[in-house]
Amino acid sequence: MNPNQASSLQCALLLFTLLVSGCTEKKVDSRTKDFALIKKLVPYDVTMEAPMQGDWLFEHKEQGQNFEQYAKSAPVSPNASQKNIYLQPIGIFNEREDKIIHYTAEYLEIFFDLKTIVLPAVSDSIIPGTARRTREEGYEQLLTGYILDSVIAKSIPKDAIVVMGITQKDLYPAEAWNFVFGQARLKKRVGVSSFVRFHEGELSADNFDLCLERFIKTSAHEIGHMFSFKHCTHAVCVMNGSNSLYETDERPNRLCSECLKKLYWNLGFDVKTRMLALQAYFKKHKLTRDYDLQTRDLGL
Ligand SMILES: [Zn+2]
Ligand SMILES: [Zn+2]
Repeated sequence: MNPNQASSLQCALLLFTLLVSGCTEKKVDSRTKDFALIKKLVPYDVTMEAPMQGDWLFEHKEQGQNFEQYAKSAPVSPNASQKNIYLQPIGIFNEREDKIIHYTAEYLEIFFDLKTIVLPAVSDSIIPGTARRTREEGYEQLLTGYILDSVIAKSIPKDAIVVMGITQKDLYPAEAWNFVFGQARLKKRVGVSSFVRFHEGELSADNFDLCLERFIKTSAHEIGHMFSFKHCTHAVCVMNGSNSLYETDERPNRLCSECLKKLYWNLGFDVKTRMLALQAYFKKHKLTRDYDLQTRDLGL
């Protein structure tokens, strides 16, 4: 190696070092900026009211999960080869129901900042009689555990980080339970939910927006679990447990600051860009309460 070659190698190394340290600093800068923005949302955390009989927290004594506990829990996290969210419709969906599923995918793609893919629907005949029951009122329910462990978990696409089944029928998690809106595994990357209870009667133009508002909430909640979130007890939040439609309706489509910090730490999106995209989504789909809250958050 002659002196000229040596000095050009040194220059190249210096340039490389500068570029790498420049990128790292940029990354550190943006993370500091994003964490600072999330911190500004702390005053908007709404304290949860003391649980009343029938509420989720009245019946389930949960401790919640703060940022440090979450970070230490080795949560499910996307990587270069497993980074897409998949939705697997199970059953026969009409055009309007199909729209709910696709608008939900659009929302989840913004909420988690991960590509969200709707798979072709499969028949619910794959669920055996032992994993179904018919209620006195005449409607049929499907057993969540079977769907999670014997259907969804058996066919997770290679590039999926999480998969959520969406059934056209109501769900139950065990004989003793009346129903659930959804259920997910904290470490196995699978979940299932249903919007059959969200349109109270035939899904129509009149109840479509309400059904969408409720289903995007349930879907974000269940997929939050799939990213190893436990129920939130920190403040009013989409990750609060829910025992009823009343409790579900009480909370907005919004994470509290503690849960947003957890999600950001895990997924690393641009916080402001995500807020703007959520605001645009709520406006497009006429979800006024969520739009108003997001607009207020953006005013910081
Ligand atoms: Zn839950
Ligand atoms: Zn929360």
